[in-house]
Order: sequence, then C-alpha cells, then structure tokens
Amino acid sequence: MMERVYNFSPGPSMLPLPVLEQVHKELLCYGDTGTSVMEMSHRSKMYLEIFDASVAALRALMHIPDTYEVLMLQGGATQQFSAVPLNLLTASGSADYVDSGNFAHLAAKEAERYGAVRVVASSRNEQYRFIPALHTQVFDPKADYFHITTNNTIYGTRYAKLPDTGDVPLVADMSSNILSEVYDVGKFGVIYAGAQKNIGPAGLCVVIVRKDLLGRANQLCPRLLNWQVQAETGSMHNTPNTFAIYVAKLGFEWLLNRGGVEAMEQVNIEKASILYNCLDQSKLFKGTALPSDRSRMNVTFVTGDEAKDDAFIKFAAKAGLINLKGHRSVGGMRASIYNAMPVDGVRALAACMKDFEAQNA
Ligand SMILES: *Cc1c(COP(=O)(O)O)cnc(C)c1O
Repeated sequence: MMERVYNFSPGPSMLPLPVLEQVHKELLCYGDTGTSVMEMSHRSKMYLEIFDASVAALRALMHIPDTYEVLMLQGGATQQFSAVPLNLLTASGSADYVDSGNFAHLAAKEAERYGAVRVVASSRNEQYRFIPALHTQVFDPKADYFHITTNNTIYGTRYAKLPDTGDVPLVADMSSNILSEVYDVGKFGVIYAGAQKNIGPAGLCVVIVRKDLLGRANQLCPRLLNWQVQAETGSMHNTPNTFAIYVAKLGFEWLLNRGGVEAMEQVNIEKASILYNCLDQSKLFKGTALPSDRSRMNVTFVTGDEAKDDAFIKFAAKAGLINLKGHRSVGGMRASIYNAMPVDGVRALAACMKDFEAQNA
C-alpha cells in the first residue's frame, strides 16, 4: 500500500488514522453481529445502539444542554440553507444575515426564496478578507433569527467574537469549525454542520436545535426538512446515513479520548500559529485574511505570482503535502488543518514553505 500523505483538503478532508483503522477492522463484521454496519437495518437494536452512542458522544463533547435536540440528517449544510428559513422564517417573516463568505452568501440567497432577508453586514466587496463589523443597532429585534457562518472555509476567516443578538435566535453554520474550539451551545438557537470537514464522511449533517424553536415550520416545509418531524422520529423519518453516523461516532470517541474539544482547541491554536508565524516571517508568502479574523482551520495565502503559487503546490505535493490549492474563486493556497491534521503535518508544511522560499528567493 502507498504511504499515507498529509492531506490539506478543505473537505471531504482527513480523518484520524485510528478511526480509519477501526472502520477497517469492523468493516466486514461488527462485533458479534456477523454483518457490516452498512448492512444493518437502521431500526435494529444493534444499529440504534451505535446511533445513540454517536449522539451521546457529540452531546458530551459540546456539553449540549437537554433543552436542545441533536439531529443527524442527510443533505449537507446546503440543505440546511433551505431548512433554516423553512423551519424558522414564519413569525415576522424577516431574518438577519451576515455576508462573510461564499457559503454565507449562498445561505442568504436561499433564504430570500422564503421571506425577507436583511444583510446586516458584508465584506463581499473586500474579497471577504475579514468578518464585517457588526453594529447591534442595525439588528432587527423582531427578526425570526440571525444567521452567521462561524468559520469561512474559502476565505480563511473566523469570528473572534460572536454577535450579541439578544432574544433573536442566533443560527450558525459551523460546518468548518465545529468541535475545533469551545462554543457555549446555550448562546445559539441552532447550530448546523456538514460532517465532511471536522466530523466524518460526507452525506451527514448535524443539526443542534433549541427545543422551543421546533413547531414553527412553514406549511410547505417538506417533512424531511422539518426539524420537529425529525426530532419526533429520532432523525429517522426516512433512512439516515447509517454508515456516516457510525464513522462520526468513532471520530467523536477519538476526540473524547484526546481530552475533548477543550484539549483540541489548544492543539488547533498551536497548529494555526505555526503557519501564521511562518507567513508573517516570510518574504515570499503572504496571508490573505485580516490577522484579527484569521481562521484556525483554513489558512489562506499567496505569493502574489500565480506561476509561483502553482510551483509551490507541486513542490509541496512531491513532499507528500497534498490538496493545498486555494478555492477556484480566490486562487493561491489554502491549508485546511482540521482536528484530524496532526501537528507534525503542519510542521512539515511550514518546513516545506521555508525550503521553497530559500530556493525561490
Ligand atoms: C462546506 C461548507 C458548506 C457546504 O457543505 P455541503 O455539505 O457541501 O452542503 C456550507 N457551509 C460551510 C461553512 C462549509 O464549509
């Protein structure tokens, strides 16, 4: 078998090696069942144990209060761009959105189909290099909810501070930084996250919703997207992504064994600072995000010369550091360093950048 590389893919991204090894070990025969998890009925006792353990591990990691439901749904974060307004945009019919990146923009565009969307702040005209300044006096106190993207995957920015939305429920797309740092779930009305960045395989989306926000859905909300229906059926209005939920459980348990989100946050701060220190000292590479809003998960940088960017990406790939190409809309480089990326992978990247700079000064 070829040796494993350090994979800096933005998503689907690296999984912890012990998780993959466990999947490998159990793939043909899970426990004493004589079947693969993929072959189990989602309603079987054996599978329900896996499902419940997965939800319990996530609850433990994020200290999710009992006043919240945890749903394990299909359709990715993009489907929640529709589900959020379909479930919540029903009282005043107006919601506030912050336009801090491509996914934030898409979320707002989708919500516009169902009601009034007020974009209260945007950094779109500045290539989303920072989180736009938020002024509470422009927030609508009657909004059905206030939507943010806690980490902007493509542009490499992160909210250093959450907005105070008072009684208006804060809804967060946390796809690219869930479980990477400690968040007080109690500050949110809804958190949703596609799994393929920091949780597990694609095809699963975690939705954490405060129970009092259930039962507000639009008449036309498809039952499959209705959080109340999914809460009442234990995320099994239809067949869930059984295998992804199982792999996610292994990932959650891996994280719990490493000291949980609290310990992982310290590792993530260390990993990000290795790369940002390297960028700040470099004469060749430049970070693209405003330093105060830098992401700890997606580090975006350029040389300022496309040919050099391409040469670096090839140079790094030869050293076993792959998928460093930036998103097609921004170019340059992006190193995605989610929880599963070890510190050694980040050190290897920093060393590779220094080598390349020495050879291309
Ligand atoms: C990747 C990503 C999405 C899109 O996720 P899908 O699962 O492909 O729908 C949405 N929001 C953010 C912040 C992302 O990083």
